[in-house]
Amino acid sequence: MNADFLTRLPKAELHRHMEGALGFDTLLELLDLQGQPRPATREALLQRACVLRPMGSLQEVLDCFQFFGSLLSTPEALALGTRGAIRQAAREGIVYYELRFSPGFISLQCPLGLDEITRIVVDSAAAAAREFGVIVPLILIATKELGVQPCLHSFELAAQYRDQGVVAVDLAGDEDRFPVVHFKAATDLAREAGLALTFHAGETGNYQNVEDAVLQLGAQRIGHGIASARSPRVMALLKERNIPLEISVTSNWLVGACASPQTHPVGILMEHGVPVVFNTDDPTLFDIDLPGELALIDSVWGLGEAGLFKAQLRALDYGFAPEHVKGLARQRLLAFSEQA
Ligand SMILES: [Zn+2]
Repeated sequence: MNADFLTRLPKAELHRHMEGALGFDTLLELLDLQGQPRPATREALLQRACVLRPMGSLQEVLDCFQFFGSLLSTPEALALGTRGAIRQAAREGIVYYELRFSPGFISLQCPLGLDEITRIVVDSAAAAAREFGVIVPLILIATKELGVQPCLHSFELAAQYRDQGVVAVDLAGDEDRFPVVHFKAATDLAREAGLALTFHAGETGNYQNVEDAVLQLGAQRIGHGIASARSPRVMALLKERNIPLEISVTSNWLVGACASPQTHPVGILMEHGVPVVFNTDDPTLFDIDLPGELALIDSVWGLGEAGLFKAQLRALDYGFAPEHVKGLARQRLLAFSEQA
């Protein structure tokens, strides 16, 4: 593969948390804003902020995530962080970035209310999308640990912002203690408001959550969902209903969901005809980027330039923005293939 092909390829990213994707220069700016000293070296920053080797559990990774949340504690910081995440995506050659964020998670370390947090992210994302030439539909996440009622309130907010860039909702958090199906009232509300649905499910061991997300909640995509590889029944369901799994190989490895990138179950899923799209999840938290993640996928599963190009078109097909919005990204991708 040509060395700069993956950098130049216009890319679509469907699963990337703003809070874990701020970019290292933005992390430093946010530390400045809080009056905290900058780490002396990049290595010291990585050690403080990042997950660089497999962790014992998803919970340990979520604990690391708290550091990023702690930096987004004022309106100014939240605006800077949102802009930083979009600037970072633009640098990676991402032309279509479904930015997902959790007002509830941010509110844990920020005195602002969910409404105010959402307003700042929506406005800052719109401005940064114009500034960096990236299409940025928004996905609003409800953090399940906060409880059923706050999740319902989060999705009411998502519905209010539907005409200002919020296209979908997501549920995230501990899967075993908080199965997605407990949040059906909230997800029904979102669907009835015309929002698309993608839920974190089957990230670690539990494929029942994937099946429930599809059959009980009407999920149109699944975040991770890799536990489905252990269930022929669930894989058949995803194939039959054309529901893609948002795959993030490095993230899954570092949360301990597979023993190594090479043994990630995406190969099994593809063999069974399950639709997949390739993502980073939290690139700054894991010190990765989308070109690097695609290179990793190519090195193990040999998709080649043509396969990775097709994967970007496929990601756009599954994107939640309206067709006239996605069309601009598709044009850039097709123009690239004509030049190549
Ligand atoms: Zn995620």
